[in-house]
Formats: sequence, structure tokens, C-alpha cells
Amino acid sequence: MAGEKSEEDDYLDNHYIHRSNWLRAAVLGANDGILSVASLAIGVAAASEQREPIILATLAGLVAGALSMAAGEYVSVSSQTDVEKADIEREKIELKQMPELELQRLADIYEQRGLKKETALIVAKELTEKDALGAHIRDELGINEISQAKPVQAAFASGAAFTFGGLLPLLVALFLPLKSMEYSLYGFAIIFLIILGAMAAKTGGSSIGKAVLRITFWGTVAMGLTALVGYLFNVNV
Ligand SMILES: [Zn+2]
Repeated sequence: MAGEKSEEDDYLDNHYIHRSNWLRAAVLGANDGILSVASLAIGVAAASEQREPIILATLAGLVAGALSMAAGEYVSVSSQTDVEKADIEREKIELKQMPELELQRLADIYEQRGLKKETALIVAKELTEKDALGAHIRDELGINEISQAKPVQAAFASGAAFTFGGLLPLLVALFLPLKSMEYSLYGFAIIFLIILGAMAAKTGGSSIGKAVLRITFWGTVAMGLTALVGYLFNVNV
């Protein structure tokens, strides 16, 4: 029936690995957004007594960071796509030029996965008859629907996640009292980072405690050092 979840959907939902790609990009992007924009804002807040320079620096950091994150992700995932495409083209040629060898290679892969020699060959033959290229792409090259690189999707996810993360310190810079701005920025950034770290650990099935400790420590180091730089350059503009 339409709308009802199939058994396969349930199976996919229960496995963390299927959430890993977009989750990792989203969490890394948001973490980066919070940490780099908050650190930038803290550095300027430590050096300035006025709100405008802090807001300006935060906004500039947010826009520059989001664009460079998206561009970086697009470039790296595109090159992965290029590699995948080149591999698939080579596979097409090999299947045409040496079908017997390719069949044996596929059977060897299934044998390594635990099938008996005869069964492996039967499976390889049947899958080759059905869709030789598909079988080789999936089982020999290891390229499947889930792992296939999607540059635009990945770039958008990273840029959007960075923007979401960076908006949080911007709101702090806009609305909280100027007097204790560095501490507000630090405090809220650490809270946001802990929430994000805990969410990522929970969704990814890993230890929440470890994730929270790790993000708090490194977040404090990053923001502490930029605050120090800001104090050193206190310019009272
Ligand atoms: Zn092959």
C-alpha cells in the first residue's frame, strides 16, 4: 500500500551507516559554523568596545565560511565523482574486451565473501546475465546508490549547515549585552556545540559523553586562543 513502509525501509532505517553521509557533512558544517564564526566574533569582541565591528566581522565570517565550505565540498565531491565515472568507463571497456576474466573476477569476489566456488560462479553468471555492468559497479568497484557522490547535494548540505551554525553566534552578537559579549559568545557557542555533539553521537550510535567532552575541549581551545589574540590587539576602535 502507498505510504506504508516496506520491510526493506525498516531495515535501512535501523542501520546507522545509512545516515552517515549526510549526517557527517551536516554536523561538521554546523560545528565549523558555530566554532569559526563564534571564535571570530570573540576575537573582535575582545579587541573592541563597540557592537558594529563585532557584527560586521561575524557576518563576514559567516558568509565567507559558508561559501568556502560549500565550494570546498563541491570540489572534493566532484573529483570523487570524476574518479567514479572514470572507473565505470574503464569497467565497461574491460567487460567488452575480457568478459571471461571479468566473470571470474566477480566469482572470486563472491567466493571471498563466503560463497562456495560453484555457488559463487553461478551467482556471478546470473548477475552478469541480468546486468553485468551493474554487478561490477556495485560488487567490484563498491559504488552504490548510498555512497555515490552527489556534489551539489553535498555542497548545499555543507553550506546550509555552516550557515545554520554561524547564525547562532550572530544572534548573540546582535542581541546580547556588549559588556560581557565574549563570555556570552563563548557560553552560547559551547552550549550549541554540546547539543550538536550529543545529537550526532546519538544518531550515529556512539558515546555521547566522549563526543561532548571532545567538542567542549577543542571548542574552548579555539575560542580561548582567538580571545587571547583579540586582547593582545585591543584597539578600542
Ligand atoms: Zn570488473
